[in-house]
Amino acid sequence: MAGLAATARAAQNCAMSNTALLAAVASRRDELITLTQDLIRIPTLNPPGLHYREICDYLADRLKTRGFTVELIRAHGAPADSDKYPRWNLVARFESGPGECVHFNSHHDVVAVGHGWTRDPFGGELVASAEDGARIYGRGACDMKGGLAASIVAAEAFLDIYPTFNGAIEISATADEESGGYGGVAYLAEQGYFSPDRVQHVIIPEPLNKDRICLGHRGVWWAEIETQGRIAHGSMPFLGDCAIRHMGAVLEEMEASLFPLLATKRTDMPVVPEGAKQSTININSIHGGEPVPEDGFTGFPAACVPDRCKITIDRRYLIEENADEVRAEIVAVLEKVKSERPEFSYELIELWTVPPTMTDRDAPIVKTVAAAITKVLGTQAKFVVSPGTYDQKHIDRIGKLKNCIAYGPGILDLAHQPDEWVGVQDMEDSAKVMALTLAELLL
Ligand SMILES: [Zn+2]
Repeated sequence: MAGLAATARAAQNCAMSNTALLAAVASRRDELITLTQDLIRIPTLNPPGLHYREICDYLADRLKTRGFTVELIRAHGAPADSDKYPRWNLVARFESGPGECVHFNSHHDVVAVGHGWTRDPFGGELVASAEDGARIYGRGACDMKGGLAASIVAAEAFLDIYPTFNGAIEISATADEESGGYGGVAYLAEQGYFSPDRVQHVIIPEPLNKDRICLGHRGVWWAEIETQGRIAHGSMPFLGDCAIRHMGAVLEEMEASLFPLLATKRTDMPVVPEGAKQSTININSIHGGEPVPEDGFTGFPAACVPDRCKITIDRRYLIEENADEVRAEIVAVLEKVKSERPEFSYELIELWTVPPTMTDRDAPIVKTVAAAITKVLGTQAKFVVSPGTYDQKHIDRIGKLKNCIAYGPGILDLAHQPDEWVGVQDMEDSAKVMALTLAELLL
């Protein structure tokens, strides 16, 4: 009986504290707005990798005054790291006794501005909206400075209500996610920052809508195909061998056999949007013949039969497939063309492979965040998988840490678009979900 009473009391305390915790997040709404605006106003454009040190310093100052131990880590030797454009990362840790560590990882880089903006891309403008209450505009607003700000405010609110707890909270702001993450999460993972003895739970606050948990992503296989011919005078093409015609035959064979085959391959992964539930291939580029001079030459090109033609292909594959199978499909296309065209020769160069990854729905971080979403939003969490990769690949492959998800505020479709924005209410709600997650895992 006494035991039951104690359990009931503990549950009641927890419920009361949750109310206090949620109120602590809500009371920081203005702070959440200011923090997001400040982050947007540091234009961390990638490429080339601007102001990385500045944003890390800004975050370090803030988190240090709130008791975090901070480390600034430059990814020396990583691709694109240079003295002109150093790849700086920040890792902040707050430890309170033995227990597990919950890590929030956000990338601090943003993509190019592009055309079509009606707002200042680095103004961090706060605008009232009839639909969403209020929005903050700017490059990186949803992808993902809003998510970074939400995770910081969630952690700070938690620490105010629970100055002592069991375990550790980490917040990282990392470089270069938009260009593969090699100067960011991959580098940190190689240094052991995501090893399972240091970190047990990871949330990446990418903009996936506040009621959705992203479990992982499809795989990537990039390759270059070159068809080879023989140069000759363009007036006597029969004396040469046209590499572009060979490539035409390759593309025709892809249309005839490969695209229909990929359309039949469907995954059980909950990939969104619907079109990405099948295997896909994109032909990224095609180059054949003599290169066009960069100085704007507008005269006649030299009369030559092209001896080289190249395409790059971007194949996204499913958890039910593997890279060997994906390669074999392409080789089959090339070999078929070879059997039909006596002079045909080719080279296939693999450029980049990332296996698909998907965290188990029963993983602790998935179950905890799903329960917190239900508490805050009153709805069931939806589970999704991303069509493209993000930094979870490095945490999984290098860090060997499977208990990782993407969860954060913002609408995925707005990422990389002109007039990108994040909703203030979305940020507040997802910060509440993150704070409840900390309470569940660390108390
Ligand atoms: Zn992102």
